[in-house]
Amino acid sequence: MQSQPHQRLAGKRAVVTGASRGIGRAIALALAGEGADVAVSARGGAELEALASEIGSLGRRSAAVACDVTDPAQVEMLARRAQDALGGVDILVNNAGAASSHKFLGHPDELWHQMLALNLTGVYYVTKAFVPAMIAQRSGRIITIASIASKVGARYIAAYTASKHGTLGLTRALAAELVGYGITANAICPGYVDTPMTAGSIANMVARTGMSEAEARETLEKTNPQRRLIEPDEVASLAVFLALDSSRGINGQAINVDGGEVMF
Ligand code: NDP
Repeated sequence: MQSQPHQRLAGKRAVVTGASRGIGRAIALALAGEGADVAVSARGGAELEALASEIGSLGRRSAAVACDVTDPAQVEMLARRAQDALGGVDILVNNAGAASSHKFLGHPDELWHQMLALNLTGVYYVTKAFVPAMIAQRSGRIITIASIASKVGARYIAAYTASKHGTLGLTRALAAELVGYGITANAICPGYVDTPMTAGSIANMVARTGMSEAEARETLEKTNPQRRLIEPDEVASLAVFLALDSSRGINGQAINVDGGEVMF
């Protein structure tokens, strides 16, 4: 199928990590819906393969690449496979991530290291693998799915908060350092989004507090002044916007999608 003239990302090539479900899946489909070819990655599985087929059925090139972003050798392979499948990469979406919660008192060191390895060092490895080709082509978009936990602290999520604050620091440093190559680096900071990750948070709350699932969900909804969870598509539409050529002036920013929960 030919790209449609109204498709704003026709001819662009994108990679999305953590694309097998939730926000990453929505972003991959939104980018493809705007005409981009999209390589999708996660640690593997049928969902990832199905997503690549779905993108193919939209008439776009795709590839499903199994990659654990905490392993630099697998990340290098992801960059090579994406390059081979798409012929280059214009848009990198760093989305793979996970949440955890634990009181700081007695916080397991292992959990701290896991969160930093995935949410921060994973973004570092992936970006490092894709930036050389972006520099060579003198253009690129780096879009990192951070969190409002990149800007504010909350109890029981010290490791997650520290890792997400780190991604914002990395984004800002990249924005400053790569600006001369036509590359922008920006972060998206969602509040609670209706994804499997949030379903996991709700299950944890039920297990730890004895509240019902509906009560736990409502507790999370109430953190948003709009009294709802954000939909993955809302995050995806901002990712598409940041990927546009016409967004080239937006660099080093961290834009919240949270109904106004955090206003800076
Ligand atoms: P999900 O748990 O629904 O999806 C996470 C994705 O990341 C999956 O595709 C998963 O696939 C992949 N992933 C997990 N671990 C790894 C790994 N080691 N290497 C590669 N891929 C991995 O999460 P969400 O969609 O909710 O979240 C996506 C991003 O958005 C995360 O960075 C999260 O921190 C952020 N975010 C989420 C919010 C929310 O409320 N949901 C709010 C703010 C930010 P697999 O397990 O198969 O590898």
